[in-house]
Amino acid sequence: MGCNCGKKNSGSDEDRASANLKKKQEARTKPPLNVPTFPQIPQLTENKIKSKLLNTTSPPHHKTKKEEIGESPTVTPKSPSFTQKVKNLGKSVASRVTQGKADDNLIKLRVLSCHGDDEMVSCPYRSASNVREGAYFCTACGCGDKPAAFLNDPDNSDTYTKLDYPWVSCPVRMPGFGDYKPFSEETQEEIDKVPDGMKRKKEVEVILTARGIVIPPAYKPVKTNGDTNDSSES
Ligand code: SF4
Repeated sequence: MGCNCGKKNSGSDEDRASANLKKKQEARTKPPLNVPTFPQIPQLTENKIKSKLLNTTSPPHHKTKKEEIGESPTVTPKSPSFTQKVKNLGKSVASRVTQGKADDNLIKLRVLSCHGDDEMVSCPYRSASNVREGAYFCTACGCGDKPAAFLNDPDNSDTYTKLDYPWVSCPVRMPGFGDYKPFSEETQEEIDKVPDGMKRKKEVEVILTARGIVIPPAYKPVKTNGDTNDSSES
């Protein structure tokens, strides 16, 4: 005999109600039709995100003073050969051993040639040292940024520097140096090797002449081991 308690009917209603609820829940989670969905955001790798945030693709370029006024920047000239550097050093050391220190007027002339003054710009190849604050060195002679090659001592003006050697070479053959050569005697080939320095040499000679300063000619250092030490070798 079947039961008339209505449990079977009641169970079917519950099943239907449960099925309806499930359908409604599914419908809610599905995107509605005809409603545009957002496009997929492209995936960025960690590096791409960093480079976008930091803009690190290329460092900013700051114009130099020369670039700002439309002139091409100073190019550091090629250093003398190793043999030439050894020869120059030998001449300088020999002159120090035999003569001690250069004449004061000669040193003053070299100071103007390298550092300039209020009316005279400094040599384009003179550079501030990275190892000692206030010191300068010559980037053209190939001696490097080291105390023995400094053109000055910022703390003690009595220190024996490169400019104190009785004979010392300058890559531009500027006034006061052992291998000085007037601009008018330079060949085009030599001018092209250090164009910025040569241009300044011409200007410095004009200023020195206007001040009544006589520029001494190049001179031969002391002889060592049969070396003639002709200044034209430098
Ligand atoms: S090139 Fe000559 S003048 Fe210029 S910094 Fe060097 S030594 Fe001095």
